[in-house]
Amino acid sequence: MSSLARREFITPGSKAAAFILLPFPLINISKYNAMTVNNTFDVIIVGGSYSGLAAGMALGRAMRKVLIIDDGKPCNRQTPHSHNFLTNDGKTPAEIAALASAQVSRYETIKFFNGFAKSGIKTDKGFEIQVETGETFVAKKLIFATGIKDLLPDIDGIAACWGISVIHCPYCHGYEVRNEKTGILSNGDIGFDFTRLISNWTKDLTLFTNGKSTLTSEQTAKLEKHRINITEKEIERLEHNNGYIDNIIFKDGSKSSIKAIYAPSPFVQHCKIPELLGCELTEEGYIEIDSFQETSIKDVFAVGDNAAKMRTVANAVAMGTTAGIAISKKMIFEEF
Ligand SMILES: Cc1cc2nc3c(=O)[nH]c(=O)nc-3n(C[C@H](O)[C@H](O)[C@H](O)COP(=O)(O)OP(=O)(O)OC[C@H]3O[C@@H](n4cnc5c(N)ncnc54)[C@H](O)[C@@H]3O)c2cc1C
Repeated sequence: MSSLARREFITPGSKAAAFILLPFPLINISKYNAMTVNNTFDVIIVGGSYSGLAAGMALGRAMRKVLIIDDGKPCNRQTPHSHNFLTNDGKTPAEIAALASAQVSRYETIKFFNGFAKSGIKTDKGFEIQVETGETFVAKKLIFATGIKDLLPDIDGIAACWGISVIHCPYCHGYEVRNEKTGILSNGDIGFDFTRLISNWTKDLTLFTNGKSTLTSEQTAKLEKHRINITEKEIERLEHNNGYIDNIIFKDGSKSSIKAIYAPSPFVQHCKIPELLGCELTEEGYIEIDSFQETSIKDVFAVGDNAAKMRTVANAVAMGTTAGIAISKKMIFEEF
């Protein structure tokens, strides 16, 4: 049985510092020495962002012994303000996460481990999760709240602007750039659908196909009818100031001034452990779940972006709460 390394825990004394230093602070308020903490839990939650913390709160309130493992890379960490989450509209992602983390930390059966979960196996008694630093933790149930990783186009400047002026979703950030000169970086059916959608927020719209258009002639005609420009010029880079775009620079040397770009992008699962445990994925690449968030592998649950197309903080929190309650109830009945 391994014990937790002291440096992985953030103690109550360092709580304030953690808020300042970490982009996504995790707080452990364990009353006893971290070196003696047992490595066996009822539930391990891999991923301690919005969905994982919501699951943790539901389980903490049901007095379950829970370990939340998180390495601090939520997908929205670069965005200056988060929107469309009731009571927290306009706050920074770190503010929302810090408040959530502080509230979950009040429940004394919840422990946090700040680090990367690198592997997981099924055992006779449940599951084992091993972290990068070598410790192994054991639990009867697992929740993966691990999110997804966006595969951004390979264009210089996109990563720096991601979440700031290169946007993934109009419901999160469209209002802030309404009526502005806006681009859609996409092509084909996805580009057509996204352009139609964004026409609700601005009429000053250009679809940048970054190479030959693959729109059908009907789609092209429809966009033209709505006075939406289509540019096939290949993009060299984005000219920006701290993530706020000024211009798109094309490979032919010309440029186009722009305020915001929507870039619908493909994704991969942020964490490979669910697949290694045998969890089925949908055709689109989400973890398959039932209505209580349980995956195709019994006692393994998935919550948040890794299992849902509706990519919002509100939905991630709802899924986390659902899984937390479902697991609590399941364990109560199993043990009764
Ligand atoms: C740029 C951007 C801006 C957005 N803006 C908004 C907005 O304004 N409003 C809104 O409602 N939604 C917004 N979203 C969507 C929202 O951020 C997500 O829906 C939400 O973060 C999903 O929460 P989650 O807990 O599922 O995953 P995430 O928040 O992505 O968190 C996953 C966590 O799991 C951890 N993790 C993954 N694998 C491991 C591992 N192996 N070991 C340890 N830890 C691991 C990660 O480090 C991370 O902390 C935005 C998304 C993006 C990309």
